[in-house]
Amino acid sequence: MASTDKKINLLGMSQDSLEQFLLARDEKPFRARQIMQWIYQRGVDEFDAMTDLSKTLRARLQDDAEIISPPVQARHDSKDGCVKWLFASGSGQAVETVFIPESDRGTLCISSQVGCALDCSFCATGAQGFNRNLTSAEIIGQVRHAINELPRRDNGEAAISNVVFMGMGEPLANYRNVVPVLELLVSDWSYGMSRRRVTVSTSGIVPHIQKLADDCNVALAVSLHAPNDELRDQIVPINKLHPINTLLDACWEYAAKRSNRFITFEYVMLRGINDSIAHANQLATLLKDKPAKVNLIPFNPFPGSQYKRSSIETIRHFQDRLRQRKMVATTRKTRGDDINAACGQLAGKVSDRVRKRLGQKSRGQKNSTGNFNENKDIRISSA
Ligand code: SAH
Ligand code: SF4
Repeated sequence: MASTDKKINLLGMSQDSLEQFLLARDEKPFRARQIMQWIYQRGVDEFDAMTDLSKTLRARLQDDAEIISPPVQARHDSKDGCVKWLFASGSGQAVETVFIPESDRGTLCISSQVGCALDCSFCATGAQGFNRNLTSAEIIGQVRHAINELPRRDNGEAAISNVVFMGMGEPLANYRNVVPVLELLVSDWSYGMSRRRVTVSTSGIVPHIQKLADDCNVALAVSLHAPNDELRDQIVPINKLHPINTLLDACWEYAAKRSNRFITFEYVMLRGINDSIAHANQLATLLKDKPAKVNLIPFNPFPGSQYKRSSIETIRHFQDRLRQRKMVATTRKTRGDDINAACGQLAGKVSDRVRKRLGQKSRGQKNSTGNFNENKDIRISSA
């Protein structure tokens, strides 16, 4: 169902904003908590069903507000238990969400933007360019839909125990809409998840890492992918704006504000590019004695990609070297292969309004100064 112009969508609204909305209608702010419980914990869409609200308030909500989720276009179930949903995001666009069940947890990987402007050279989302930021409703709507649709685990626990922002888009480039979602994920009136189980993954938008530490201190994963600026400039272009030193300083500050909880550094294993023992040594030196763990991600190919995945032996040697150097290092299992749901393969459906408008044929979203946030079409939203 499409949203109507005059009604306000309560889905994705922070508790604070919902309280303001109620106060403006001479209602008690604590009603916000009741409404949140109905929306998120009970998955209700109709105000009429909110039986502990007065009839007057329900009628008022009916007139002024609505609860609109992003429409689901398709669902694909993988042989290994992963589920992928395609959510329509208007004008023929769509984003993807993936559920990854494991023996001890269920992780939902969600999208934050339609496409991505940051153009990392190994990423299917980046290859499509950027169309727009998702709204808070469209982001939390992915979680709400998955929770409503997935059966509970055998032990009675909710299917989803962890949420990671590792789907399409760069969450810290959509800061304004992502923060209310983080608050809702951890709020007792909504999903009440532990902050340790909500992870924002970023390619390194430094000012927003610094801000996030104060605004909503959830777990942080950083897409490092290279141990030196020369290589990182090539594969993660935002590095030209925020080089490794600055990025790591922000990371250690972030970790310090969370009682030195570990930061996860993601490292995609690209054959012959960043996977030598010399790279492993450099990486270990960079992260030495810091609250860091490294998660190696075997590269997942997609149509038109220029890289190959490192061999299993190369990945094992790289991981062994990190461990010899006293690092915590793991390798991510590739899941959902048969439904193209693996890390970096999420492409959804993006018609790249930016590239079309700029008439660019090749990859790369930078303006003439090499910056990403100065072009009015490639906005990095601020708080
Ligand atoms: N924009 C954020 C989050 C989305 S990408 C970020 O970059 O961190 C989630 C993870 O998938 C990132 O670590 C990203 O670098 C990785 N990734 C992207 N393309 C990939 C690919 N083709 N194979 C494996 N991992 C990939
Ligand atoms: Fe964007 Fe992340 Fe893909 Fe880079 S890896 S293009 S930041 S989604």
